Amino acid sequence: MQPLPSTNPWDDDDGFHEECGVFGVWNATDAAALTALGLHALQHRGQEASGIVTLSEKGGFHAHRGLGLVGDIFGDAKVMAGLKGRCAVGHNRYATTGETALRNVQPLFADFEFGGLAVAHNGNLTNASTLKRALVRRGCLFQSTTDSEVFVHLIAISLYANVVDRLIDALKQVQGAYSLVALHDGALIGARDPMGVRPLVLGRLGAAEGGAYVLASETCALDIVGAEFIRDVEPGEIVVIDNNGLRSIKPFGRGQSRFCIFEYIYFARPDSVMEGTPVYGTRKRIGAELARESHVEADVIVPVPDSGVPAAMGYAAESGIPFELGIIRNHYVGRTFIEPTDQIRHLGVKLKHSANRPTIEGKRVILVDDSIVRGTTSKKIVEMVRQAGAREVHMRISSPPTTHSCFYGIDTPEREKLLAAKHDVEEMARIIGADSLAFISLDGLYRALGHAKRDAGNPGYCDACFTGDYAIPLTDLEGHPERVPVLLAANGQ
Ligand code: AMP
Repeated sequence: MQPLPSTNPWDDDDGFHEECGVFGVWNATDAAALTALGLHALQHRGQEASGIVTLSEKGGFHAHRGLGLVGDIFGDAKVMAGLKGRCAVGHNRYATTGETALRNVQPLFADFEFGGLAVAHNGNLTNASTLKRALVRRGCLFQSTTDSEVFVHLIAISLYANVVDRLIDALKQVQGAYSLVALHDGALIGARDPMGVRPLVLGRLGAAEGGAYVLASETCALDIVGAEFIRDVEPGEIVVIDNNGLRSIKPFGRGQSRFCIFEYIYFARPDSVMEGTPVYGTRKRIGAELARESHVEADVIVPVPDSGVPAAMGYAAESGIPFELGIIRNHYVGRTFIEPTDQIRHLGVKLKHSANRPTIEGKRVILVDDSIVRGTTSKKIVEMVRQAGAREVHMRISSPPTTHSCFYGIDTPEREKLLAAKHDVEEMARIIGADSLAFISLDGLYRALGHAKRDAGNPGYCDACFTGDYAIPLTDLEGHPERVPVLLAANGQ
């Protein structure tokens, strides 16, 4: 979900992108506790806010939402006791900056003709502002500034009778990336956009829990609740889970699959399996490809923790150069930590990373990280490693250069702020202060994922951040109000 670019005077967002995690369970003992655990395992997908909506056995909904980490929001026994019921959906929200108002915290909830519906969305819609303008003109009153709210209004105005048909009607009008979990008093619903850009998996709890179905952004959330992985929800598939079991609907026909390749590189947790491929092994293979493509004589391979670790292991195994934890990460740096004052800034306080001097001093070091976005991290780390006595510092990156912004749900700054959008590799090496810099090639990345090379006609993944190949139209960005869906336009709105 993403705050919508401001189209109205009451809109106060700044248009930054967000990433998220979703979880849902149907008919299990203590659904809220399972959901809190699932959200905890998905904390890396969103640290700003979390929410859970449950459906009680009497048919009423209960909700709790808060700003902060899952453990802080749902660690309170009183809060959990209030979240009654055997069915639940939950959401983690991520935003590096931007509006943090509680009204934007999901799951969104609304009462419709057919009853209550809670919706949790991971992804980013690319025609949300266009839709919102049309909906507002029609009289819809938006309560939040997230793009996800357009789902709620499209469902509300749909002329179809039942909730699943209304949802399908809504999904046919939105463009962009979405993995959704929704809960109403008849079913838990999961849905993935036609290209399957964002992940969504289906699992099942054991017999002791009545074999309840679970939906989650990643398999690591199934593992934590002891659910067995069944399968990925397919691109364009809607799964409806109720007391009769699971029903699959595919209203979009078969199109190209474009799973986000960056989930493998950085975003997903390494112990998750995405689209049948374990993330950890993929990251190691990317590291090995990188070593083959960009060999350099060195004494030690050092990962930039934590995201660079598996790729650095793969690099070390392939190159035969020893692996060392030459940089130590402090895991307790919260967002709220005070910035060093000017008086102590001269100490060169590094809150997040510090050099492990004995592993670096006097050595030729290969640093491995997953990506360079603005270049700030690389610059700081290279400098730190040099100060710790490294003789040479070579930077190796386990993704191709990030030259384009993501509009499908990964937080990236606008293009002008991406180092690789403005500079070639040599210039970037100079800017970050490295003796050499190399990125994995696009084909090398595809090789690590089991393909001979990137097939430009049908790559199978969304790699727009590296190629600019945006497979889903960027309607809001490109300003195409004529692309307002037929239903809204036909009503003269
Ligand atoms: P930068 O300092 O702007 O070049 O950012 C690069 C660092 O940010 C790398 O160490 C990545 O692990 C990390 N990173 C890459 N993409 C993201 C993202 N979407 N959100 C947060 N961190 C990221």
